[in-house]
Amino acid sequence: MSVERTLSIIKPDAVAKNLIGKIYDRLETAGLQIVASRMMRLTRQQAQEFYVVHKERPFYSDLVEYMISGPVVVQVLEGDNAIARNREVMGATNPADAAPGTIRADFAESVESNAVHGSDAPETAYTEISFFFDVGEILSRDS
Ligand code: ADP
Ligand code: MG
Repeated sequence: MSVERTLSIIKPDAVAKNLIGKIYDRLETAGLQIVASRMMRLTRQQAQEFYVVHKERPFYSDLVEYMISGPVVVQVLEGDNAIARNREVMGATNPADAAPGTIRADFAESVESNAVHGSDAPETAYTEISFFFDVGEILSRDS
């Protein structure tokens, strides 16, 4: 196993439902350490850029509106196989398909308002972490 970092977002629906602590507990219980964290409200431009890979998808403009509809909490998670482990704890994109006990099965409202984001590969993790955090804002436990 290798130590990785991944980018996680608690999305506006979950922040609005006061679920920040419950979601952090799921992540930490899964062995992931929160090594950077910030609450913020995304600008339209940031949301468009963050999800640019989906810009041709029919749900893109709704997704951007949803992501700017309220504050989010962005964090860098670190741990063994952090990218896959976070995706496991999150559950499938559509909460109807998410395994029982996952964050999305328990807290998501719909395929769009699905509580959390997690990077899907090492390259996207690197890009997404850099999108939100400078190197000096990431505080591994041994640093
Ligand atoms: P994931 O977040 O699981 O990596 P995707 O990268 O495929 O999923 O999609 C990014 C986000 O776009 C999803 O988390 C969800 O908020 C939204 N989304 C994905 N598919 C749909 C859809 N069919 N209809 C509406 N929104 C969607
Ligand atoms: Mg994705």
